[in-house]
Amino acid sequence: MTATPQPTPEQPTPQPTLRHDRFYIGGQWVDASDHDMLDVVDSSTGQVIGQVPAGTPADAEKAIQAAHAAFEGWSQTSPEERAALLERISRGLSQRQAEIATLITQEVGMPYLHANLIQVGLPAATFASMAEEIRRYPFEERLTSSVLLREPVGVVAAITPWNYPLHQIAAKVAPALAAGCTVVLKPSEVAPLNAYVLAEIMEEAGVPAGVFNLVTGTGPVVGEVLASHPLVDMVSFTGSTAAGRRVSELAARTVKRVAMELGGKSPYIILDDADLTGEALVQAIVNGVQGCYLNSGQTCSALTRMLVPRSRLPEVEAVVQGVVSQVKVGHPLEAGTTLGPLVSDVQRERVRGYIRKGMEEGAKLIAGGPDAPEGLEQGFFVRPTVFSEVTPGMTIAREEIFGPVLVIQPYDDEEDAIRIANDTEYGLAGGVWASDPERAVRVAKRIRTGQVSINGGAFNPVAPFGGYKQSGNGREFGRLGLEEFMEVKSLQF
Ligand code: NAD
Repeated sequence: MTATPQPTPEQPTPQPTLRHDRFYIGGQWVDASDHDMLDVVDSSTGQVIGQVPAGTPADAEKAIQAAHAAFEGWSQTSPEERAALLERISRGLSQRQAEIATLITQEVGMPYLHANLIQVGLPAATFASMAEEIRRYPFEERLTSSVLLREPVGVVAAITPWNYPLHQIAAKVAPALAAGCTVVLKPSEVAPLNAYVLAEIMEEAGVPAGVFNLVTGTGPVVGEVLASHPLVDMVSFTGSTAAGRRVSELAARTVKRVAMELGGKSPYIILDDADLTGEALVQAIVNGVQGCYLNSGQTCSALTRMLVPRSRLPEVEAVVQGVVSQVKVGHPLEAGTTLGPLVSDVQRERVRGYIRKGMEEGAKLIAGGPDAPEGLEQGFFVRPTVFSEVTPGMTIAREEIFGPVLVIQPYDDEEDAIRIANDTEYGLAGGVWASDPERAVRVAKRIRTGQVSINGGAFNPVAPFGGYKQSGNGREFGRLGLEEFMEVKSLQF
């Protein structure tokens, strides 16, 4: 995701503390079955800014029953009826865009202008695009002596992460509702406040009772009930590969459909035909650094491994240092900040651990390091960090760090670059930078990932997004994202 934020006139003000003590189930705001609460923390200050209930298995059960009861009616509605509803939700999100962007900026730490565009603008666009999609979608098609029907898969459990919280929710909820499915959403316990705003918007938009249900809580409690419940027909999960594996195992017991959007360790190959002089080199590097540092590196498709011709390594290192020195680390609600904090204390310590590991394993630290940035001891800030001369066996070349840590890997020739790029258990995204576009496409075709951006090609919100290998299975967004939530029936006559 490399969209460029546009300045907006309004100056965001932090949201007051938000305490939610109910769930949205069966079209009602219902009390949690227990009084345990989960704190939501502002990533820039470490202060508690909200609380949501820690759901129990009984709460999850109630939500699943509501979604099950609503399925028959909702699955029989017309595409037009569903499209009109999706458009109302999209408008509702746009009307509250500044408020939601401020909230997510606090929850996640992404600079406000980026959050406004990506964390709220994209979800609003996703609901609108699904409305458009189902207006032209062939729900019935003739195939020789048969008629093919596309029908909703049933009750969908949507389990989502914290890094692009509303975007990940929209990627599941919009196509599920569009297909005629009913949904139980369990958002990340780290950034759940935005999901409450969505539930309010759903209610105002007139979502029928039980079609959309919200239960908050932890993965091992609420998430596991959703993943294993016999009345749930599909689990759509986005998160870490470890949790995805567990969800898949639980879902297998009732042979549910499973869609998995997991981690990544994505390569960005700067080919040796690229003009690596002056401004052209700066452009190639800026594209790579932005592709790694967006949302403080907490992006599943982040281009975290920069592969460069070995003979050009010294020039690349010098330009990377120059580009990284321009990164403005600071409070994400302040104008001019380009890198905010990490989401949590746990995440910050994890990332610092990887930086120390890189140093111990002999990688060459050329920017940043494990200490907190000067003057930003409060909140979960990490210095923008770059390692060079990273070999494929090093931990920082293999594991997803999920922080602002760029790894530079030198290669000898094109074959070597492709080999290093594919030498990972992940396969989510990649990038190629070249002067010759045909060569770039040829190399992109050999990268084993679900998306490849060529010469900085921007994120396309209707192009399928998803992983090869251990980055998951299934695709989100656009027509293919819609079809994940459908069954196919053939009638013979
Ligand atoms: P996580 O796996 O810790 O949590 C994701 C969600 O799963 C949360 O709602 C959590 O409560 C739930 N969960 C955790 N354990 C569970 C269990 N045992 N059963 C059921 N649910 C469980 O991930 P995170 O830290 O929130 O997000 C970061 C990870 O998500 C990174 O690995 C990142 O790459 C990945 N991610 C992938 C994509 C993608 O599209 N491929 C997008 C965003 C994030």
